[in-house]
Amino acid sequence: MTHTLAIGPYNDDEKQGLTRELSPIYLDGPASVANLDAAQREAIKAVAYKGHHAFGATEMDLLPNVGAVANYGVGYDAIDVKEASARGIKVSNTPGVLNDDVADLAVAMLIMQGREMEHASAWARSGKWAEQGEYRLNRKVSGGRVGIVGLGRIGREIADRLAAFKMDIHYWSRSEKDTPGWTHHADPVSLADAVDYLIVALVGGPDTEQFVSKEVIAALGSRGVLVNISRGSTVDEGALLDALESGAIAGAALDVFLNEPKIDARFYALDNVVIQPHQGSGTVETRAAMAKLQRDNVLAFLGAKELLTPVN
Ligand code: NAP
Repeated sequence: MTHTLAIGPYNDDEKQGLTRELSPIYLDGPASVANLDAAQREAIKAVAYKGHHAFGATEMDLLPNVGAVANYGVGYDAIDVKEASARGIKVSNTPGVLNDDVADLAVAMLIMQGREMEHASAWARSGKWAEQGEYRLNRKVSGGRVGIVGLGRIGREIADRLAAFKMDIHYWSRSEKDTPGWTHHADPVSLADAVDYLIVALVGGPDTEQFVSKEVIAALGSRGVLVNISRGSTVDEGALLDALESGAIAGAALDVFLNEPKIDARFYALDNVVIQPHQGSGTVETRAAMAKLQRDNVLAFLGAKELLTPVN
């Protein structure tokens, strides 16, 4: 009987790897755990988890012998780690291998928004370039002031890229980092007040909910642009929508939202927002590396070895 459950929307390549190395039972989401019979559930020792639906006490109760949950992705906010730790269940994630892609997308979104690339493209396609001549002027990005909320692995990659754009780097993190020439801010309002571009690269989960508050958004000001590649939960989305609609900030570029993929329809009506469908790590190369690291964590656990990238 198989000892592994693979939960989530795996693509064909990922399924091939999982089948080859772990022969798991596949489920489309955590709600389907209840459909397994008792013998199947009791045989499960490890879960390969992918997705953003909550995996918590209910699922853990149904899998009494599970000892490890290996998440596909660095953000593990869908998994109730406190519940897992209380039961002695190990949790792992896939840090590092996706930093470049997420940082690339953040920088691209910042430039797309600052240089109005989406708007300008639609304008040219509509025939207005030919009819009206030059596109309106927009804002210079290189040499500007940028703030990173959360200078972790991804935040650092973003800042390193933007330093090459000659930007003045400011950041908020719980502790000051060894980054000569960059300015640490002790609170996010002071950070937002000091910059024109604010990029959110925090972990998700209850501790960072609405960390980018109404006050932070207000401090960004009418020339300010917010970029979020972390989780929809880290930003007060209602306050952000109000600020975008009223012009209290200039724009936003967002890869993550509350209630994805059924995001607030108010976003679709705004032409000062770049919308990306949560595709930060979505390249063939990086997804293959994430899938391999997830499988390696499951194999380590089943082989009674230390997890490669534990989170608890
Ligand atoms: P990381 O290295 O752990 O960095 C996380 C940052 O969050 C750090 O700056 C850390 O602050 C801060 N942080 C952690 N716990 C906090 C708390 N309780 N309160 C306030 N700040 C806290 O993580 P990472 O690898 O850079 O990934 C960051 C996040 O990006 C992930 O958790 C995920 O949600 C998101 N992500 C998104 C995509 C996408 O497709 N858009 C892809 C991958 C990841 P300190 O510096 O003070 O420790």
